[in-house]
Amino acid sequence: MLYKSRIMPRELQIYQYLNLRVKLSGKERKHLFNLQKGYEGELQFDSLTATIRSDCLILNDLLLSNNRNIFQIDTLIILPDTVYLFEVKNFEGDYFYDSDRLYTQVPPNSEVNNPLIQLHRSESLLRQLLHNLGCKLTIQALIVFINPEFTLYQTPINKPFLLPGQINRFLQKVQSTSQKITNEHKTLANQLISLHIQDPPLYIPPSYQYHDLKKGNICRNCGSYEITVKGTKCICKSCGEKELSEDLIMRNVKELMLLFPEMIITTNTIFEWCDKVLPKRTIGRTLKRHMNCKGEHQWRHYEF
Ligand SMILES: [Zn+2]
Repeated sequence: MLYKSRIMPRELQIYQYLNLRVKLSGKERKHLFNLQKGYEGELQFDSLTATIRSDCLILNDLLLSNNRNIFQIDTLIILPDTVYLFEVKNFEGDYFYDSDRLYTQVPPNSEVNNPLIQLHRSESLLRQLLHNLGCKLTIQALIVFINPEFTLYQTPINKPFLLPGQINRFLQKVQSTSQKITNEHKTLANQLISLHIQDPPLYIPPSYQYHDLKKGNICRNCGSYEITVKGTKCICKSCGEKELSEDLIMRNVKELMLLFPEMIITTNTIFEWCDKVLPKRTIGRTLKRHMNCKGEHQWRHYEF
């Protein structure tokens, strides 16, 4: 049973927005690609764990802290007798393992961060945290290589790896128990959710300025700026996607608030952000309907 769902990481969302409004550097584009790929791998694993039919609690994406050491868990599954911790990797292509190091097969055989180091750290910190919470369940930590196009040569048999061809069988095996989840398991899950850190403190945003970003409405389907307003609807000239003006305005509000959390939302700020395409009247009406209006006259602004 899904107990905590995954949401798109703030950093990825910001990079996705920026990618359509400013020219990212090669390094930033690569970072966006890696974030995107990692997130897609996690979603793919979520779709597999969602098929588990036995009694369990699935907590996706936890950021926890133990003695000021912050650690992240991609997927945690609480089963009646074991807590499984999964680190999901969406590596693609040929890799090989040598002397506790991981290399890509592509020349010049560059070394990549060994995910085992991160896994051992998370496992150790989770064990301490669960101990402090009075939980005596066994912990099993595994790295899931989710991409079917991934091959790892020279894999030592004793490493906690789940290779693409083993994932389904592993998930079948874990659900073979007939034991049930109790209130104690649920209490543990609730404790972990309450300890989850919403905003990663180590997150360093890319640097960008309001005036550097391209203004305008972006099609939710194809990313084009070619949007025309027809009554209460907006139509994309590139792909024909239709969207209610109201929805488009609120998408812009959310984007602006994520990119510039300090910005005060008014009819004018949204009018400028949309590159003056939508009538101020429609913007004002939409903000009033979906947000709380604060202040009077020229000080009027909107908050959630
Ligand atoms: Zn479009």
